[in-house]
Order: sequence, then structure tokens, then C-alpha cells
Amino acid sequence: MIAEVIVDVLSSEVDKVFDYKIPSSCLNLTPGYRVLVPFGNRKIEGYVMSLKQNTDCPEEKLKSIISILDDKPLIIPEMIELIKFMKEKLYLRIIDGIRLIVPSQVRNKVNFKVERNILLKDDKYKDYLAKLSKRNKNIPLMCHFLKEVGKCKYNILVKKFGSANVSQLLKDGIVIEEKTRVNRLEHTDKISQSINLTKIQKNAVEDILNSKDKPIVLFGVTGSGKTEVYMHVIEKVLNQGKGALMLVPEISLTPQMVRLFNNRFGKDVAVLHSALSIGEKHDEWLRIFNDEAKIVVGARSGIFAPIKNIGVIIIDEEHDGSYISESNPRFFTHDIARFRARYNHCPLVLGSATPSIETFYKTQTKEYNLTEMPTRVNEKPMPKIEIVDMCNEFKNGNNTILSTTLLDKIDREIKNKNQIILFLNRRGFSSYLMCRECSYIPKCTECDANLVYHKDEGVLKCHFCGKKFKVLTKCPNCGSDSIKLGATGTQQIVELISKHFENVEIFRLDNDSIKNKNSYNEILNNFGKTKPAILVGTQMVTKGHDFPNVSLVGIIDADISLFNYSYKANETTFQLITQVSGRAGRSDITGEVVLQTYVPRNPVYLTSANYDYNKFYEKEINLRETTKFPPFAKIVRILLTSEDDNLAKETTHKLIINLKDFRIKYKEKFFFLEAMKSPVNKIKNKHRYQIVLRFANEVEDEVLNEIYTLLDKMKNNKLSIFVEINPSSLS
Ligand code: ADP
Ligand code: ZN
Ligand code: ZN
Repeated sequence: MIAEVIVDVLSSEVDKVFDYKIPSSCLNLTPGYRVLVPFGNRKIEGYVMSLKQNTDCPEEKLKSIISILDDKPLIIPEMIELIKFMKEKLYLRIIDGIRLIVPSQVRNKVNFKVERNILLKDDKYKDYLAKLSKRNKNIPLMCHFLKEVGKCKYNILVKKFGSANVSQLLKDGIVIEEKTRVNRLEHTDKISQSINLTKIQKNAVEDILNSKDKPIVLFGVTGSGKTEVYMHVIEKVLNQGKGALMLVPEISLTPQMVRLFNNRFGKDVAVLHSALSIGEKHDEWLRIFNDEAKIVVGARSGIFAPIKNIGVIIIDEEHDGSYISESNPRFFTHDIARFRARYNHCPLVLGSATPSIETFYKTQTKEYNLTEMPTRVNEKPMPKIEIVDMCNEFKNGNNTILSTTLLDKIDREIKNKNQIILFLNRRGFSSYLMCRECSYIPKCTECDANLVYHKDEGVLKCHFCGKKFKVLTKCPNCGSDSIKLGATGTQQIVELISKHFENVEIFRLDNDSIKNKNSYNEILNNFGKTKPAILVGTQMVTKGHDFPNVSLVGIIDADISLFNYSYKANETTFQLITQVSGRAGRSDITGEVVLQTYVPRNPVYLTSANYDYNKFYEKEINLRETTKFPPFAKIVRILLTSEDDNLAKETTHKLIINLKDFRIKYKEKFFFLEAMKSPVNKIKNKHRYQIVLRFANEVEDEVLNEIYTLLDKMKNNKLSIFVEINPSSLS
């Protein structure tokens, strides 16, 4: 027999299977096993993708597998199919697929955490003590202690009685050591019962369980009780002996969410997200792999969890941008989820209060099913959104970024001892610095990006690579010391607010205030405990949180996302406004929202202020249809990056010459073709070029195939090529 093996080398030239002979020592080999193979003059790891009878490889060149590395295949059969799907449809390299499916912690064999316990062997210790020198007091004390407690952790015993004494008892055979594997992440036992669903919720559960042939969109307003619906569905599939996969955006995977699931499902839950330590990820992955946990609660990468026999896949807040992986390997979580739901013939739930336009469109064309929950469980109305025209503020002599309306309301709510959330999607103190004399703007040396001023750290920071630079006091270009600040960021809001309201506690939540993996929760916990208090932050403050005392939400500059360079700008803005507004008035106090903008008549604001998703959708889908943007067309960006500027430029040039033929071939089905330096020319010293194409849906497969074939010919180790379909950002 012959095995087709993919070798674990990160190079696009070796990203294909190689044939190896299966020696008699490896006869139980099946696809999915990790093996050691000779490659060139090295021995490296590889994965068996398939088996076959014959090979075209000449006998004298054919090498043998050296050994099998694990006692079971690390890749389950479903995942082998998934890897092929990703290679063919998503242009991912096989080895990237494998690295997503078998994470590094597992490949690199992180050790299990072992707990050492000491216990008395039997009652012989009494004779032993009788013969012992009376001078040693600790040994008898230790024996009596162990008799009393049964067993004790090795470390604690050493601390209490000294390591020499513990070793002596071990050596003399009076005590024995017991080693047990412990899980690094603690999972509590099941403690809460499920609650009774409302009629609307019951309907949704029913609809979901009946939707095995198509994905189903759960369109439920914030507070409609979607989480409870998910948990009921999971309960049902668990009772059928199946597993469940529940994904949430990275950022809302707070301990509250994990606790909720732990309380309901106990040790059946495993958690996977990027804030776990390497050891924790390793343990959680293996608990799933070994069928010890049947429910996975995870962020984006959780979609690759090795869970078998899946009964439901849930993507909560399905519109969230974090489901798109924008760094290598690039993928869209929904694509992987659809594959897995098809493979397992199970429901795929896409839940949201503001489904993405493309997702909702599919419910209209019946490609997806739809179930709706239009009211909140507690029947409280959504908080009122007031639009404030910042042009008027300016005309009336207020040239700050905070309107008098917002300031008055903050003042009132502080007096009422309530909590306030202020949202501004720009971190740092100011977006850039600029010389007033010569317009010089400091930039990162590694990236083509303006540096952002961070006043609290006293540095200029690059938001693409994180590199820090000294703050300018003098312009290096003309020597002038007149330096101007760019647009306001979260740090400056905190400074402004604390000048207006001297004695109120202000918390800041953004990428910079998160110093370690606990800070996110610490900041939120402390805010939750303080009244009155103000929380200022970026997108992080918009998602998932349930603070009952928040009575006011201020959206400081809604236009930032509206004027973003993307065809999704309108929908992202609508989603953001709905989400952050949903943080106010969640309990007895009535909530209120102030939305500041320079374009108060924009339909996105008018519809979102009325929570009118359907009207927004109507307008937006018409716009997309007339302008030929997704879902009525496909946008493809081919991004080429390399440290070698010439190589990237020349390859782009070659590609564009080839792609020009598409125009002739596809005629009116091909709308647009453009090649340029990417808007951000350089990141981490890699030069970036991009080609953007737009074409009709019906030629998608054909066009993509041709693109992939073209790209295959241009492979080069010094160049990375990414293909993104309907990218959310073109920077
Ligand atoms: P969503 O995810 O749709 O925003 P949640 O699932 O967070 O809504 O539910 C909002 C609140 O309503 C939560 O506090 C939840 O515990 C509560 N809730 C949900 N369903 C019910 C129910 N059937 N009966 C009582 N309370 C419920
Ligand atoms: Zn200058
Ligand atoms: Zn940089």
C-alpha cells in the first residue's frame, strides 16, 4: 500500500501530497495519522491524507514511512474532507488547513498538567514510627496528618514538613505517590436548570431543529432571549447523543458567557478562544478530541474543533467582523460552518439582531430559512435614540467634540447615580500629529501608516505593527515647534470628560487599556460595581455586556464608520448603533441614547434611530442592486505582499495582463478591474499590491478557478498571495 502524505513544511512549493511506501510495521495506518517521513536528507513530520494501491513514483525513488507518531489519527475523517474543501474552494494551502485543525499546542506535545498527591500506604507506619529516632518530630506529625486528611498535594506537604522528610517516607515505602492528570481550565459542575421558554422562543427552537437542509437565521432583537434559545437547542441535541458547536465573537466571550454555559451544562463544555494559555488550549482541545466534552463554546477558530457527530452549529452575532480571518490563513467562518453542517446534516443557526445584508438577502431568496423574535423577553421598549446635529453645535459656538445635549444628559445621569457608556471608535489620544508650518506627519518606519499619539504612555504608536516612537516637540522637517493634533481618540475623551465632571469615576476600555488577559474583565467588573461611573471605549464597549444600571449611551462620532472605505460601511454603522444602544436600559431604568453626527439626515441614522432593520435593509439592498455590489456581484481582492518591492510589483503586473483577457471573455458580466498599491502600501516592511475585481455571481466558479490556476503559476517563496472574496476592508 501507498500513503499520500502532506509534509509539515510551510512552503508553497511543497504544498502537495507525496507518496510513501507503508512498511509492515505500520499496517494499521489510516488517513489522518501523523507520521515521521524522510524528506530530502531530513526526517520530518507529515500527515496521511489518503491511501492507495499504486503510485507513479519509480520504485527506486519511493521512500518508506519511518514511524507512526500517535496512537490515534489526529485528524478525524470529516476534517480531511474539510481540508480538501478549503484547498479547492478557499485557496488555502493544505498545510495551513492542517495547522488550523491540529493546533500548535497539540502538534508540539505540550505536557499535561499532573497533580502529585501523597498518601499513606497502609497502617505499617505505626511500627515504623515506633522504631524512629525520637528527635524527628516532623515525620510522626506528617503521618498523623495524612491519616487524618487521606491524601495531600505533594507541594503542600513539602511546605509543611520539609522535602527531606517527604522523600524519606517515599523511599522507605511508608507513603506512596499518586499522579493524576488535571485540567488547567476549571469547569464547574452543572448547577442551573433550564428556564421555561416564551411561546416565541419555543417556536424558534422548533424552527431551528427542523432546519437541517438549509442554514437558518434567528433574527431576534437585543434582549429577545436568543441565548436561552441556543441553550434549549443544545439540550435537545445532547439528548440525542450529539455534540454542539457554539461560536461567539471573540470579544463577547466573557467569563459571564462561559459561566452561563458551565452552569447549565457542567463539564460537557469546552472553551476555545485566543485569551487561553497554551496549556489551557491544549487541554481543552484534547477534551473535545477524546469526547470528554460534547459542547464547544468558542471564538472564530472554534469552528475547527475536532468534535464528532455534531447536532447543531450556532454562530451568534453572525454579522460580526471577527468571523472573518484577515490574516493568513484567511477564511470566513460561515463557509467552514456550512461545510460542517452539510457534512453532519445538522442545523446551522445564524443569530443576530442585525443580520448582515448578505445573510438576510439569502432568507429572501429562500437559500436560508428565517425565524424571528421581534420583542424583548421583558417587553421593555428599546431605548430612545436622539440624533444631535454637530454642525448646529458648531454654529452655536461649541467647537468641541461633545455636544451640550450630551453633556447635559451626562450631568443629569451622574446626579441620578447611574452609569454611562461613551463610544468612540478611535483609540489613542489623537489620530495623528501634524506640523502646522509644513504639514509634515510622522509615519511608521516599517509600515505606510500615520503614527497615533498616545498621551498617557507619552509615545507615538503604529496601529499596524505596534512599534513605538518618540513624541515630536519639533518638526524634523522644518524645525517648527507648532504641532497640531489630529482627530480625537478615546484617551482624549477621558481627559475632556474628567475636566467637565471632576468627581466621577471614569474607566477606559480599548486595546491600549488591556494590558494582560485579565484586564478586560477587571475593567468591566470595576465599572459594573461603581455608581455613578462612565465607561469610555472603542467597539469593545458595544458588545454583549449586560449592565443593569446603564441609563445613557453616547455615540460620540458615528460618522467614523459611516465614511469608512468599504461597501459595508452603511451596514456596519447600522449594526454598531443598534448594538451599543442595546446596552442602555436593560433593567428597570429607562435607557437613552445620544448619537452625534455631522450628517443627521443620513438614512442609516434615521432608520437605526427607529430600530427599523427592515426599512434599512430595503434601502440598502436596492443600493447594492443598482451599484452591483454584493450580494448581486462578487468582489475579489488579490493581495500580494513581499519584502521585495520589485517582485510584488512585477507579479502584480503579470497578473493584471492576464486578467485583462477576462474582460473580453466575460464581457458585461465583468464589471470592474483595478490594480494598485494597496491603500496601506507597507506593513511590517512588506510591500503590498492589490488587484480588485468585481463580476457577476453566475460566473463566480469559473472566474475563481481561472484566478487560482493563474496564481498557482506565480508561486514564489518570497511572495505571499491572498485571495479574499467580498473583503470587509481594502486597506
Ligand atoms: P439576546 O441574546 O437576544 O440579547 P438574552 O438571551 O441575553 O437576549 O436574554 C435577555 C434576558 O432575558 C436575559 O437576562 C435572560 O436571562 C432573560 N430571559 C431569556 N429568556 C427568558 C425566559 N423565557 N423567561 C425569563 N427570562 C428570560
Ligand atoms: Zn514642519
Ligand atoms: Zn508599523
